[in-house]
Amino acid sequence: MQPSNEPSFRESVDIMFNRAVALMDLPPGLEEKIRVCNATYTVRFGVRLRGKIETFTGYRSVHSEHMEPVKGGIRFSLGVNQDEVEALAALMTYKCSLVEAPFGGSKGGLCIDPREYDDHELELITRRFAYELIKRDMINPAQNVPAPDMGTGEREMAWIADQYKRMNTTDINGVACVTGKPINAGGIQGRTEATGRGVQYALHAFFRDVEGMEKAGLTGTLKGKRVVVQGLGNVGYHAAKFLSEEDGCVITGIIERDGALYNEDGLDVEAVHQWIVKHGTITGYPDAQLQEDGAALLEAPCDILVPAALEGVINLGNAERIAAPLIIEAANGPVTAGADEILRGKGTVIIPDMYANAGGVTVSYFEWVKNLSHIRFGRMQRRQEEARHQLVVDELERLSADSGIGWELSPNFKEKYLRGAGELELVRSGLDDTMSTAYESMAHVWHARDDVDDLRTAAYLVSIEKVAASYRAKGL
Ligand code: GLU
Repeated sequence: MQPSNEPSFRESVDIMFNRAVALMDLPPGLEEKIRVCNATYTVRFGVRLRGKIETFTGYRSVHSEHMEPVKGGIRFSLGVNQDEVEALAALMTYKCSLVEAPFGGSKGGLCIDPREYDDHELELITRRFAYELIKRDMINPAQNVPAPDMGTGEREMAWIADQYKRMNTTDINGVACVTGKPINAGGIQGRTEATGRGVQYALHAFFRDVEGMEKAGLTGTLKGKRVVVQGLGNVGYHAAKFLSEEDGCVITGIIERDGALYNEDGLDVEAVHQWIVKHGTITGYPDAQLQEDGAALLEAPCDILVPAALEGVINLGNAERIAAPLIIEAANGPVTAGADEILRGKGTVIIPDMYANAGGVTVSYFEWVKNLSHIRFGRMQRRQEEARHQLVVDELERLSADSGIGWELSPNFKEKYLRGAGELELVRSGLDDTMSTAYESMAHVWHARDDVDDLRTAAYLVSIEKVAASYRAKGL
């Protein structure tokens, strides 16, 4: 639980924003214009379920329209409220700007516990919520494009896209009204894993930054680094899986809502995930110690702490005891403004949310472009690329034979080199490039400026500067 003397989530975001703009030289009034949320729409609607009408409350908040459409997920959670969607919408503005996804920031939420409803009921509720937003152009391929967030996934996005198509039968770009759809409903390869994949790429970028590593007191590579992950939802699961299976990290702890699993030698992320899918809980998982007070594991010694669930989990109540030298914010807002200050004071390096979890919206951008272009990435080039590579391989083999040297290509070279990139490879390559470019822009400010001692402030500076430039260019 977050102590009550903490500012709200939105105030926390504002405090961090204010710290950054104090270091900037913005024209009078522009700072306020960027900071405030442009509009928040609240809807209450009824759905007939189990013989009675149930009333639901939902929100869609638009933070900044300096670029349109505005973009950001829709979450289904009992914690949803106006303050939260406004904070999240603001983070979307800064996130999109930082990774150069050409969108303004928005966020939506429905105050509901999705586990209380069956599939059919959820479909009715989602479609009705979507209907309310679509008829006000708060879901629209040119104006406002939602995506999955906590408690929603590709199934909900497919319902929303279908609802939009029913209400806009002649809109040829209708499928671009929402991203994070299943492949067979206009989605893109690699979107589900994207946020977790982005966390992995963000860590790769950080581990290439010698100065940053020094500031965190870390050495070497990701191999063997001890990692504690909080939340094994879509983001935490993919991040932990890729870090352990591909980079050799040791996932020593996994914190879930009903406790935490700990194993000094490393947890098998896939096995834990399968256990949760099957049993709905981590309790009873065999190859680990179960800690009932899950949150206490946030304080366990490790190299990298990955909060990948809720906001405010690292707060005034526990910040002092956080032992990890590096925190990567896979969730939005997991560290409160007060905790951020304490951690900065201790020298903990935080890779901030607006960068660390930007992989989702980056691949959403690719999906939106794919939908508007009506063609899958790689469809035109793949065979042509393969044919050109074949020419090189044939020539190498001919030269080797003709010269009598008898060179042999390395095993697998031919297979790897000949295969042209499909959609998944292109998406991953675009994501990797986006994450490393954004990291460099942020790290440059962090290392070059004496008045900037953390990555979050650096991220805000880079991102606000771009939003400000956009307002300056177009006028208000
Ligand atoms: N909900 C995700 C986020 O917070 C994805 C947003 C999107 O793809 O538009 O970044």
